Amino acid sequence: MHIFHTISHLQNFLYTARQAGKTIGFVPTMGALHEGHLSLIRTAKQHTDIVVCSIFVNPTQFNNAHDLAVYPRTLEADCAMLAGENCEAVFAPSAEEMYPNMPYLSINFGELEQVLEGKFRPGHFNGVGIVVAKLFNIVQPNHAFFGQKDLQQCLIIRRLVNDLSFSLQLHICPTLREADGLAMSSRNRNLTPEQRATAPKIYEALCTAKEQLNNLSPQAVKANLVTFLAQQEGIILEYFEIADTQTLKPIEEIKGKEVALCIAAFMGKTRLIDNLLLTF
Ligand code: AMP
Repeated sequence: MHIFHTISHLQNFLYTARQAGKTIGFVPTMGALHEGHLSLIRTAKQHTDIVVCSIFVNPTQFNNAHDLAVYPRTLEADCAMLAGENCEAVFAPSAEEMYPNMPYLSINFGELEQVLEGKFRPGHFNGVGIVVAKLFNIVQPNHAFFGQKDLQQCLIIRRLVNDLSFSLQLHICPTLREADGLAMSSRNRNLTPEQRATAPKIYEALCTAKEQLNNLSPQAVKANLVTFLAQQEGIILEYFEIADTQTLKPIEEIKGKEVALCIAAFMGKTRLIDNLLLTF
């Protein structure tokens, strides 16, 4: 497995691969890899000849300095895991390599960024959009792989690809969970043992909401979820929304709709998100 820290070294490698007729799959990450990330690598390997995984904790998408400061950085262990998956190339640039100058450009994703994550993390999707556009230009993949765990990010990237005519196929891959249901996340490493023990309540709340939607109105389901999580020691709900899967706007009537149950909650200073997709 090749590990590149500069754009030019990565591009030399990819040029040769392309000349040899190889297709390129791309999995962008911020490192601190877990099985969820590896599932994207495995899917990428099924679709393409050469898989590139980027590991870059992108400062411009953090709207919270503490979150950026404590974001786990485990490059050596990450590379060992990727080598174990026979990933062909890792791209782990420095912030200076990615941003010799801070971008002038900013990307406005309109209504899509005014709800859920966008509403609570101002500027986040501008940072995501710019870094992913840069990475797409650097890697020029045929296929790119993202996790449904970050559902709003998937929709943002889809807009980015369509609006800027990136010539690649997007794949949205299912969320991998721990045995107790907690969505795998790099941020789970920052949980205390007590917080880790309680964290699966977030998924439990989503599953209960899913069941209740068969009989109760979205408003009633929301109220029940808020009450349930308020009873869980150490979980502070930021938002829970029953949303349209395309616009992510709240929906009042679910019949015949594709619905996303989206949640964000704090455990101490650690912020966790999760979602379920349902069809009624
Ligand atoms: P991150 O390193 O958190 O930026 O995530 C990199 C990619 O892995 C994103 O496309 C995420 O949506 C995806 N991802 C993160 N957690 C999971 C998970 N539990 N299951 C599947 N994909 C995930």
